[in-house]
Amino acid sequence: MSAVNESLIRDVVAEVLSRLGGAPAAAKPASSEPAASSCGCGGKGAATSAPGLRGKFGVFQDANEASAAAHESFVQLQKAGVAARVKIVEIVKAMAEANAEAWGKIELEETKIGRLDHKIEKLKIIKLVPGVEWLRPDARSGDHGITLEEYTPFGVVGAVTPSTHSIPTLSGNIVNICAAGNAVVFNPHPSAARCAALAVRAYNEAIYRETGIENIATIIEKPSMESFAAMCKHEAVRILLVTGGPGVVKAAMQTGKRAICAGPGNPPVYVDDTACMKRAAKAIIQGASYDNNLLCIGEKEVFALENIADKLMAQMEQNGAVKLTNAQLDALTQAAFTITPGQGGGCGHARVNKDFIGKDPSVLAKAAGLNLPAGTQLLFAETDANHPFVVEEQMMPFLPITRVKSLEEGVARSLEAEHGYKHTSIIHSHDIEALTAMGRTLDTTLFIKNGPSMAGLGLGGEGYLSFSIATPTGEGVSNPRTFTRVRRCVMVDNLKIY
Ligand code: NAD
Repeated sequence: MSAVNESLIRDVVAEVLSRLGGAPAAAKPASSEPAASSCGCGGKGAATSAPGLRGKFGVFQDANEASAAAHESFVQLQKAGVAARVKIVEIVKAMAEANAEAWGKIELEETKIGRLDHKIEKLKIIKLVPGVEWLRPDARSGDHGITLEEYTPFGVVGAVTPSTHSIPTLSGNIVNICAAGNAVVFNPHPSAARCAALAVRAYNEAIYRETGIENIATIIEKPSMESFAAMCKHEAVRILLVTGGPGVVKAAMQTGKRAICAGPGNPPVYVDDTACMKRAAKAIIQGASYDNNLLCIGEKEVFALENIADKLMAQMEQNGAVKLTNAQLDALTQAAFTITPGQGGGCGHARVNKDFIGKDPSVLAKAAGLNLPAGTQLLFAETDANHPFVVEEQMMPFLPITRVKSLEEGVARSLEAEHGYKHTSIIHSHDIEALTAMGRTLDTTLFIKNGPSMAGLGLGGEGYLSFSIATPTGEGVSNPRTFTRVRRCVMVDNLKIY
């Protein structure tokens, strides 16, 4: 039986059970050891609580109910202890991998953006998200006793997920948030909400079966601005994690609650004459074509030193990218943007046409009036620095390449194109001064040298993964510690054993 069928059957069974007010037969605790106390008096709420399944395995119509159910689940998780957190992390990682093909397909069918091979890979790599091991406490020991600082949960995290990677973001968020001992309620992107609810339902069913904890991750089935506002306002929701563009970042910051914001980017790439052109071209193609350039960290515009710009473009063609003529570029620009003429001689404002976001290169090529060789991953063209493809976060498998005269100009243009998002920048160079100047000036959360953008998230570079990179609020690549409160516990004069 295929994974899709299994998951569909599980959904139907869950639906029927919840309508009957029933529960899965074999909910078992995360560990046979009592967690709440060491006296064995049975303080383990998770194993003994009556399973109600009011929320249909985490899927709710109402934001207040979803938030309240997540809070009940947080209390259950506290009682069940760290063993239950470890189990939840294991379950989510294993299920994301096992269902990667089926869920990747379902997400692509719903959103119609991106590439199936990369949708699948983004789920398989959820195993790179860190877990409970990241919460090692800090200790001080001295003549006045012992002080322990521990990373402890907030309670319920209210999370918003994007359309660009709905199930991967949600899955990574559950791992990070629950490893830290919290529960989570999701208000997903409306155009990627069905696949998100399907994954939440499947995770909850397995987590309930293995730990006895219900609704550790809840979701609002039909999300809206109103449900976002209700979720943010709910008293159980202690902090927010939003992953998306400028609108949701602004909205989250205005709620009055602490918001961890994984905001927009427009990552520039600077290439100079000390770089290996073949390596740079391959890395740029790999990064900019990944999931049809939907990643917020993906290469969005290139500034090439003028003495190597032709060589770089030749290498890009040799490695499978297709160069557009000026006429083809103009045709694509007309289709991909709505341009409002500027006032008083300005160059106007360009708005990205959503029909082209995350679409295959063949769709873009058609708009450019071009027949593509099979297997083409990326289109590119030479543009000036003010072109809409440079200025806007366009999320298409097309890359504008602009010539610059010097390191100073390359860095300045990169800074301008990044718009102060402080998200991601990339450089191909072996000149230490260029590397330092770009790193210092751009001041981005991720700075990748001589590799594709995804090396910044552990795909080809060292480091761990998260699809929520907190940029304007400064937490960086989110991990379990991002969702903790640091608490200090002090023993005066005693328990120092030396
Ligand atoms: P989007 O901003 O359209 O939507 C993101 C989420 O915010 C959705 O759930 C949406 O419903 C919600 N939303 C949007 N405006 C809102 C408002 N005013 N109030 C409340 N909720 C609102 O983004 P998208 O198209 O789904 O995703 C792409 C954007 O997200 C890009 O800008 C990309 O750079 C960014 N992104 C950032 C990261 C990161 O880690 N920094 C990761 C993925 C995507």
